[in-house]
Amino acid sequence: KLHDQLQVLKGNIRVLCRVRPVQEQQPSIITFPLEGMLTVSPTDRRFQEFEFDHVFPPEATQDQVYAEVSSLVRSCADGYNVCIFAYGQTGSGKTFTMEGPPSNPGINVRALQDLFSIASEEGGVSSWQLSVSMMEIYNEAVHDLLRTSTELEKSLEVSGLGPGELPAGMDRVQGLTWRAVSTTEQVQQVLIEGSKNRATAATALNARSSRSHALLSVRVTLISQQGQTTTSTINLVDLAGCERVDKSEVTGQALKEAQSINKSLSALGDVIAALQKKNTHIPFRNSKLTQVLTDSLSGSSKVLLVCNVSPEAVSASETISSLNFALRVG
Ligand code: ADP
Ligand code: MG
Repeated sequence: KLHDQLQVLKGNIRVLCRVRPVQEQQPSIITFPLEGMLTVSPTDRRFQEFEFDHVFPPEATQDQVYAEVSSLVRSCADGYNVCIFAYGQTGSGKTFTMEGPPSNPGINVRALQDLFSIASEEGGVSSWQLSVSMMEIYNEAVHDLLRTSTELEKSLEVSGLGPGELPAGMDRVQGLTWRAVSTTEQVQQVLIEGSKNRATAATALNARSSRSHALLSVRVTLISQQGQTTTSTINLVDLAGCERVDKSEVTGQALKEAQSINKSLSALGDVIAALQKKNTHIPFRNSKLTQVLTDSLSGSSKVLLVCNVSPEAVSASETISSLNFALRVG
């Protein structure tokens, strides 16, 4: 099938686009001419067309989105490292896509549930170990969201060694908490704890959660009957809002935040583009985000980027710049 061939040609990087529903009954400037395509028609400029591996219109459900992601979760169970990113401006639906409201959960919860059911299909959780970590990267500092609240502000060191250079058993993020989980209830508990800690950190600085990257990582260890273990990791990343900030208008903290976000998102774009071109040098060390994800963004790893966009006219230029970012990496 043509679709399968395209996937092979495009290698291990897939890019999806999700358009959230309009707010306050504003008109939408986005239309869907053909499958996998969308057209953005700003009021003041010529329309532009974009094509991705898949495009979700506003009525797409969490189930439909997950259906396009589940094969990657299965890959992780088969031993591949996987990264799933939600990219987009603040308010475009990244957190809805990754976390979702409790009554309508997104990719994170569904991926974990899926891993448990794959484990029970394939010989039981006894031959599997799942553990979970949660981090926040804010202003180029890594915070462990599974620490007690007094320790949240400490930042963790990240090893700058290249892929495969890390000694066995050593954590790239030094001192990061990994919680072993064996039931979905335990997973829920961990997710609640991490989100609560993220919210605590956020009150210290207004709206920090949209200015930081949130990473949920799930480590899958398979133990064969001969006692051999293989480990793979799936990283589920709710990226900081990519909106451009007018540098002439912000100072101090806001400027520092904007510079950190800009640096890490362009480093991520550079790394994925370099992987796509199969370059030998991949610039992992240009940001904390890419450094943390070094092992999951190299070799035979699989990467999926969901580009979230807002459909209202006021967001036209942010929407187009998000779509251009997604095109570049895809
Ligand atoms: P972001 O994390 O990118 O800042 P959110 O996920 O918080 O954006 O979404 C902004 C608002 O839009 C929230 O109120 C969210 O519930 C709503 N929203 C986003 N995507 C959808 C969707 N697909 N369906 C319904 N509501 C959505
Ligand atoms: Mg958010």
